[in-house]
Amino acid sequence: MNIFLTYDYELFFGEHSGSAQKCMLEPTQELMRLCEGNDVKMTFFVDVGYLIQAEKYSELSDELTEVKAQIGEMISKGHDVQLHIHPHWEKSTWDGKWTFGTAEHYKLSDFSKEDAADIVRKYKSYLENLIGRKVNVFRAGGWCIQPFEHLEEAFKETGIQIDSTVIPGDFLETASYAVDFRESPMKSKYRFQSDVLLEEENGDFLEYPIGNLRYSPLFYWRLYALGRLFPKQHKMVGDGQFLSQGGRKKRKLTQFTIGHVSSDGYYASKLDAALNKYENLQFEDLIVIGHPKGNTEYSIRKLKEFIEKHRNKHQFISFQQVV
Ligand SMILES: [Zn+2]
Repeated sequence: MNIFLTYDYELFFGEHSGSAQKCMLEPTQELMRLCEGNDVKMTFFVDVGYLIQAEKYSELSDELTEVKAQIGEMISKGHDVQLHIHPHWEKSTWDGKWTFGTAEHYKLSDFSKEDAADIVRKYKSYLENLIGRKVNVFRAGGWCIQPFEHLEEAFKETGIQIDSTVIPGDFLETASYAVDFRESPMKSKYRFQSDVLLEEENGDFLEYPIGNLRYSPLFYWRLYALGRLFPKQHKMVGDGQFLSQGGRKKRKLTQFTIGHVSSDGYYASKLDAALNKYENLQFEDLIVIGHPKGNTEYSIRKLKEFIEKHRNKHQFISFQQVV
């Protein structure tokens, strides 16, 4: 099986963004260290809006230089760099801290079709100039890719051919988020055209859905409790705050829910279970999502074990290696 370890390389978007040092630079260094000598390539979905917006503030130039250097290091070490768009950066300002325009403009569908297309063009070409090659794989910020027909033309025009946003079975509706993947195909990958949930054999775009698992309330009780009880092991390294996901936390704590396969924090305890499920389904691919900011001491240990246990039987590869 192809195992894709994919990371959304970004700050937090809640009340406090956290620092580039703790949310991006240090934890990404640690992730890349895990790969060394193991023939493991990761895919980093770079939140380009942050870079573009940070360019406007001279106070941020040192941090920006370091982040760009790290993206260069990803490339030089053979990792993949692809496009992640959080368009609320368009409406965000720096004044000693970031103030985000997430309330009205969190997702591309909050912008007109023309403005959304401009953002896709601008972010994609910025990233391509930065890394010196084309990118063709996309992941939507906060999984907000619907309705896809809003983006279809822009994707075609700019040559984005692959998406890895859908988490089959998941859903999330809040003031900012609009995600509903309950009707998604459950496949390793599938083609689509105007609707990211509708398989079309001759569609222009290829979806590589993020892996999913059914999680029990007990899992989430543990996840939330461990961070408080054993912060050294289980506290996330990122020093910011998540954008509110409304009633989602309560739902997770009271009923079984479908969620992503992730290497973040306590989710990393389920990597083996996920691989097992995907082997039983005879899928060709397992896409794991993570965030450098979501690393914990525990998650790094579990990820290391996971890689060492499976690297001989499976390939840990990036999108660049298959498309
Ligand atoms: Zn993101």
